[in-house]
Amino acid sequence: MNDNCCSQTSAGSEICELPSTTMQRKLYPEAFCPECRQKGKIVQGQTVKALLSVSLRLIQDTEYYFCRTQSCPVVYYSADSKSVFTTSQLRERVYQKEPSADDVFVCYCFKHTVSEIRNTSPEARTAMVDDINAGIQANQCACDLRNPQGSCCLGNVRSLIKQVYQRVT
Ligand SMILES: [Zn+2]
Repeated sequence: MNDNCCSQTSAGSEICELPSTTMQRKLYPEAFCPECRQKGKIVQGQTVKALLSVSLRLIQDTEYYFCRTQSCPVVYYSADSKSVFTTSQLRERVYQKEPSADDVFVCYCFKHTVSEIRNTSPEARTAMVDDINAGIQANQCACDLRNPQGSCCLGNVRSLIKQVYQRVT
């Protein structure tokens, strides 16, 4: 599972990567979700603040992690599990939680949905990936503020496209 496109070599993708100095300072880049017990990835505080629909007074001054387990309602949790936010407390629907829902975004910055990727031509899919890349290069993406996972969507877009082709062939 690779949801971090920024580690790949596509041009301009470094723009949306989390600053490496920040990541190096974290002691725990991953922590276990209190609900599903799977490992979640650390997200920036601004991602949690940007995505929550509830009062930000509920946020604690601590590190938060993103749970990508589909069947798990938890989206963000603190390492000590004392602070947990579920899908119903977010402003956006979360692609990882509803990967088959037509109207859920895969690309939150440039508004591409699951159904758009599924129901379009191969040429349009290629154009979509090019468009996302162009947007990243033009510094128009805000993955840390728009995408619940807090990082670039391209990895998810690419693997969804791969799934579409596997189903066709
Ligand atoms: Zn979970």
